[in-house]
Amino acid sequence: MPIGDDNPRRTDADELEKPFVPDEVEDAIKTLIRWSGDDPDREGLIDTPRRVARAWLEYCSGYGEDPARHLLRTFEEVGGYDELVLLKDIPFQSHCEHHMAPITGKASIAYMPHKRVVGISKLARVLNGFSRRLQIQERLTAQVAQCIWDHLQPQGVAVVIEAQHGCMTGRGVRTPGVAMTTSRLLGCFLEDPRSRKEVLSLMGY
Ligand SMILES: [Zn+2]
Repeated sequence: MPIGDDNPRRTDADELEKPFVPDEVEDAIKTLIRWSGDDPDREGLIDTPRRVARAWLEYCSGYGEDPARHLLRTFEEVGGYDELVLLKDIPFQSHCEHHMAPITGKASIAYMPHKRVVGISKLARVLNGFSRRLQIQERLTAQVAQCIWDHLQPQGVAVVIEAQHGCMTGRGVRTPGVAMTTSRLLGCFLEDPRSRKEVLSLMGY
């Protein structure tokens, strides 16, 4: 039986408004709480498994969309504008696929248009589409850059992501404040040192 086929715990009206959480998902989170050393049946934790489950639906909402759809609507009347477009320091959150721990950081996304541009907020939407999944920072960086490259067909794309990893700051080597930087440069930003220097310095690197 697929997950979510029965819903015996759906009772009050409030609950009906929210996404349904199948028993097996709730039970899995209860097991994790017990495994961590707490009692999932104590009062403060009663609703926690359902809250956690719904939070994860949001953290991973990117699986339900193709981020490229944000780039389908482009504007070709750009008045001859062929200089770079940059969206700087976009805050984002993702989760690492190794520990499911939060990755929090900021991304700078730039492209050098070729005849068409896209609404600037769309770049942040592409980032969100890929970050709301289980990720590694390197792949997230590459996916955002490749998606823009493939769908806008610009002269160049540059994506730089700087982020802190919960699995590093809160466990393991415990190094709060340490950020990891990844970048993916394509087209003119890869091939032309002057363009690369310009975009990185506008991004603040
Ligand atoms: Zn991790």
